[in-house]
Amino acid sequence: MSFDTLGLSADLLRAISEQGYTEPTPIQRKAIPVVLEGKDVLAGAQTGTGKTAGFTLPLLQQLSVTPVNNGHNGRRPIRALVLTPTRELAAQVGDSVQTYGRHLPLQSAVVFGGVKINPQIAKLRRGVDILVATPGRLLDHANQKTLDLSQIEILVLDEADRMLDMGFIHDIRKIMAMLPDKNARQTLLFSATFSNEIKQLANRLLNSPELIEVARRNTTAETIAQRVHPVDKNRKRELLSHMIGTHNWRQVLVFTRTKHGANRLSQQLEKDGLTATAIHGNKSQGARTRALADFKNGKVRVLVATDIAARGLDIDQLPHVVNFELPNVPEDYVHRIGRTGRAGNEGEAISLVCVDELKLLRDIERLLKRELPNEVIEGYEPDPRIKAEPIQNGRNGKGRSQPRNQNRGRNQSRSSTKPSAEAPRKSRSNSSEENRSQAKPAHRHVKSGNSAVKRPSRPGRVREIPALLGGGFRDE
Ligand code: AMP
Repeated sequence: MSFDTLGLSADLLRAISEQGYTEPTPIQRKAIPVVLEGKDVLAGAQTGTGKTAGFTLPLLQQLSVTPVNNGHNGRRPIRALVLTPTRELAAQVGDSVQTYGRHLPLQSAVVFGGVKINPQIAKLRRGVDILVATPGRLLDHANQKTLDLSQIEILVLDEADRMLDMGFIHDIRKIMAMLPDKNARQTLLFSATFSNEIKQLANRLLNSPELIEVARRNTTAETIAQRVHPVDKNRKRELLSHMIGTHNWRQVLVFTRTKHGANRLSQQLEKDGLTATAIHGNKSQGARTRALADFKNGKVRVLVATDIAARGLDIDQLPHVVNFELPNVPEDYVHRIGRTGRAGNEGEAISLVCVDELKLLRDIERLLKRELPNEVIEGYEPDPRIKAEPIQNGRNGKGRSQPRNQNRGRNQSRSSTKPSAEAPRKSRSNSSEENRSQAKPAHRHVKSGNSAVKRPSRPGRVREIPALLGGGFRDE
């Protein structure tokens, strides 16, 4: 099936073919005609499925075919708003709007925190049709009256589950109060998971939406090989360096649970002679952009990231993702491994799991509805005498920090605060005591003369993530 059956204009089709896309992805096939009909959409789609073009293309078309009502101040009004949880995702969506809209006379802007607000204000003054924003900085602008959201025709909430996880619900409510009523606008909500909170949000924001759910892109050809390597906590770094070196991996994205852990690991890897850098919310926006660029162009071999900082990163053909530590929230595992195997390319997702993390591993396997292949690397066998200990989630070891302060005064400048993209989320899985009491027998350990001993419990290819697909929306 080609793009030209979807009802898109010649200018958009030209931009699509200039991108080299020949066929719409499943989410694009389903979402584009529905959005073009003007309907609200509730879509279950992860990053990597092509969802950005799925909403950006019809949004651009809708705006280009309907006449502009000039705002009350005579200025060109903002007609479409795309909200994203992180700066990186905002920047990427902004790039897509520019790319796909390059032959249309529409203006767009991206606003997020951590950078100066004045250039954003200047851009908004010149007139913008489409605004891509993170919630915090958008509210800063609204408070300073540097933008008006009363003429919004299309609202997109991208990665809505992550916005809620990051504690943005309060901000989202405030923003909604500035928009036209849900009957007077078109709303598209994208989310990888569907908790009760997301359903409630959808009920409030959407008007008789069409439900669209898709499998990950290229479901049948999708090839993310997943593997668990049991290893003691204090030997993980050594094993990671060993694997990068012996397999000669050139581009590896590594996940840690904490910002401090990301910094420490990247420094240790540098000491091991590997080029590494960390990306997380305590880094300035400039440092984050630089780290990503260095990683993309091959200057840096290992990018160590926290979950939220990595959210939305779109790195073409990323071959290796390593979970140096398993995430507290099982859904984050799905997001993490979604960084690889994109656009049909092969990818490998490896988890280094110590005895403390067996409960987290089991939560993940429950979500995936399958056991992950398990392989002990010879020379790195876990010491059976080591007992599980509580998982430390912060530098002071006191567990996860408090949710974002939702009562913070709006006049308090966000740009001077810690970057919003690293705002903590609520914990859905922790309890180390529970970990210990429920931990399953340590590992399926097999020995042989080879350096790596494999005994996959099931074939090592993931074709789909059943818990996120089909069978309706999942309750948490
Ligand atoms: P997304 O899920 O929106 O983050 O997109 C994932 C990746 O797929 C991005 O690198 C897009 O440029 C790419 N992409 C989107 N649509 C298509 C398509 N129809 N054909 C090939 N690649 C695409």
